[in-house]
Amino acid sequence: MRSIRTAAATLLATLLSLATARAVASQQPQHPPERAEERRSMVERALTSPRLGDARVTDEAVIDAMHAVPRHAFVPEGMRDAAYENTPLPIGHGQTISQPTIVGRMTAMAEVEPGEKVLEIGTGSGYQAAVLAEITDSVWSIEIIPELAARARTRLNRLGYDEVVTKQGDGYFGWPEHAPYDAVVVTAAPTHIPPPLVEQLAPGGRMVIPVGPPFRTQQLMLVRKEEDGTVRKRAVAAVRFVPFQRGEEAGAP
Ligand code: SAH
Repeated sequence: MRSIRTAAATLLATLLSLATARAVASQQPQHPPERAEERRSMVERALTSPRLGDARVTDEAVIDAMHAVPRHAFVPEGMRDAAYENTPLPIGHGQTISQPTIVGRMTAMAEVEPGEKVLEIGTGSGYQAAVLAEITDSVWSIEIIPELAARARTRLNRLGYDEVVTKQGDGYFGWPEHAPYDAVVVTAAPTHIPPPLVEQLAPGGRMVIPVGPPFRTQQLMLVRKEEDGTVRKRAVAAVRFVPFQRGEEAGAP
């Protein structure tokens, strides 16, 4: 009798803990299952794109992250049909949501591990920030155009990405209050690597940044800060990003 009661108590405790685990899980970002098949096929095409050459993305964490984020929720209403094509799309103010191939490649290059701190410059639609937030819960992102910053914030909240911390401002100076970062991902192309962003990299940190002249071919660079503070830079691919704006130029058409 006693052992039956103990067994019943154990069963009850197990059921209760399962219920608690479900309740905790339900607080995680909830992603609409809609268009999952289109998303799966887009990720497959994007991450094995010939454009990647030998560098095809095989990183499971990046693939899972891109399967999870509903890209159609990050593009303007009129663009939703095209959301799962492997192309950049306009998001207003002359800016674009990057091509999925580029998002996957940059995320893989940043080698983000769960729990690491990541700073993104150029929130734009918020898509890249959401992909990063699927991998780690410490993501900061800065956007210079006030309207895009506000729209991305609303969208990230609606989709449950509350862990992404955003602000409007010039990302040239980084976000020193939360530094150092294990990874910095820059999604607009400056003519040179902003020194404050290198300073805010942690030892062992990686920065992925397109560098070059506006509206011309730029180089996607991988900047690595070694444990002893030595900074190494390597050009990885030819790319074309929107220009990195500065201060008072922000918001210009
Ligand atoms: N990561 C974005 C891509 C947006 S395009 C996404 O996933 O949708 C690049 C963005 O960088 C644009 O929104 C542009 O306004 C922003 N940007 C340009 N210069 C900037 C700067 N100095 N600081 C912060 N954001 C900047």
